[in-house]
Amino acid sequence: MSRNNDLFDAAFKHIPGGVNSPVRAFGSVGGTPPFISRGHGAYVWDADDKRYIDYVGSWGPLILGHAHPEVIAAVEKAARNGLSFGAPTAAEVELADLLCSLLPALDQVRLVSSGTEATMSAIRLARGFTGRDKLIKFEGCYHGHADSLLVKAGSGLLTFGNPSSAGVPAAVAADTIVLPYNDVAALEACFAENVGKIAAIIVEPVAGNMNLVPATPAFVTAMRELTQAHDAVLIYDEVMTGFRVDLTCAQGLHRVKPDLVTLGKVVGGGMPLAAFGGRADMMAKLAPLGPVYQAGTLSGNPVAVAAGLATLKLISAPGFFTALTAKTRKLVDGFNAAASAANVPFSAQNVGGMFGLYFSASTPNSFAEVMAGDRVRFNAFFHTMLEHGVYLAPSAYEAGFVSAAHTDVDIDDTIAIAGRAFKQFSA
Ligand SMILES: *Cc1c(COP(=O)(O)O)cnc(C)c1O
Repeated sequence: MSRNNDLFDAAFKHIPGGVNSPVRAFGSVGGTPPFISRGHGAYVWDADDKRYIDYVGSWGPLILGHAHPEVIAAVEKAARNGLSFGAPTAAEVELADLLCSLLPALDQVRLVSSGTEATMSAIRLARGFTGRDKLIKFEGCYHGHADSLLVKAGSGLLTFGNPSSAGVPAAVAADTIVLPYNDVAALEACFAENVGKIAAIIVEPVAGNMNLVPATPAFVTAMRELTQAHDAVLIYDEVMTGFRVDLTCAQGLHRVKPDLVTLGKVVGGGMPLAAFGGRADMMAKLAPLGPVYQAGTLSGNPVAVAAGLATLKLISAPGFFTALTAKTRKLVDGFNAAASAANVPFSAQNVGGMFGLYFSASTPNSFAEVMAGDRVRFNAFFHTMLEHGVYLAPSAYEAGFVSAAHTDVDIDDTIAIAGRAFKQFSA
C-alpha cells in the first residue's frame, strides 16, 4: 500500500483537488503526486520514504538545497525572538540595503509576502505613477494570480485581453494587452496604436513559466527603448530569475536597468517573502509617502527576512553562480547527449541555475513554439524519471532548477536515468 495514494485520497476531502496550488495535483502529467515528508540538500523523500533527486526546489527558491544548515539556524534564531511584530525591525533594513546594493535598478524596495503581491503592487504603482491604465504582458509569461494578469490574448494581435480565469471581470482584462514574447514588431505596433495610454510593460526577462524561453537581445532593447520613448514603466518580473540566473539577476545579464523590479522565490530562501522596488521617484508615490496604497500585516516578517538574508549572503560568495551555472550546463548537455544517442528529437538549455527541457528538435522562442513540443512524450519521460527517483516539474511548461547542493554524482545519475528513459522513444 502506498501512503502517498492514501494521503492524496484523504486530501480531496477538505482541500479542493487535494492541493493548495494547482500544478501540484499532477493534472498535466497524470498520476499521484508524492507527498513530501522531508528534504535535505538535493533530495526530497516522500511519504513512502522513497528518495528523489529534486529539480523543482520548491519551484525555484531552494538554490542552496533543502534545509541548508545556515539558513535553518538563522530561521530558528529569528523564530525564538518572536514570529511577527507588525512593526519595523533592524533585519528588514539590512535586507533592503543588501538588495539595493546588489541591484543598481533598486533605489528603494518594499517587502511583501508573495510574488503575486509583488507584481500586483508594482503594476498599481506603475499606473499610479503614470496616470495611465493599459498594461502590456506577453503570452506564456506568468506573473502571479492578480486579476489584471490572468489574461490571455484575444483574437488578433492588438486586441485587448480576455480573462484566462473565471471570476476575472472583462473590464479588468480589457486593460491588459497580451502580445507574443520576443516579437519586436508586435510591440512597436502596440505602442504606435496606444500613444499615451500604456502605463507599463511587465515581462519575465527569461520566461520560466512556459518551460524556459530567454528574451532575445533585440526584444530586450526594444522593451527598454519603447518604454523610455513613451514614458511607460518597464517592470522586470524577476520573481523566478532573481538571484537564480545570476547574482545580478536577469537585468544584470541583459545590462538593462528596469524602472521597477519584482523579486520572490530565492529572495525568501523558502519562506514567504517577496519584494518590489525601483526608481526613487516611483517608490516615493507609495503610501505613506504618496497616493498609491499598498500594505501587509506580515510584510517584512522577521523569520522570512532571516531566511532571505542568510540565503543572499551564501549565494554572494565569489564563484557561486559560476559553479551553479556550470553544473546546470553539465546537466542540460547530458540530457542533450542522451537524447541524441537515443535518436529522440529533443533539446535542452539553461540560464544560470534554471533549465528547460523540450521534446522538439530546437529550443523554442515563443509560447507557440513551446506549445508545439511533444507533451505526450514529456509526460512519459517525466513518469519514468520519477519512478527512478528523479523529481522534475510535473508539467512540460515549467522550468527546472539546480541547487548548489546537487553533486556531480547526482547530475551523472540523473543523466544515466534520462538515457534509459529516452530509449522508450527510440524506433
Ligand atoms: C512564481 C512567480 C510569480 C508568483 O509568485 P507567488 O509567490 O507564487 O505568488 C510571479 N512571477 C513570476 C515570474 C513567477 O515565477
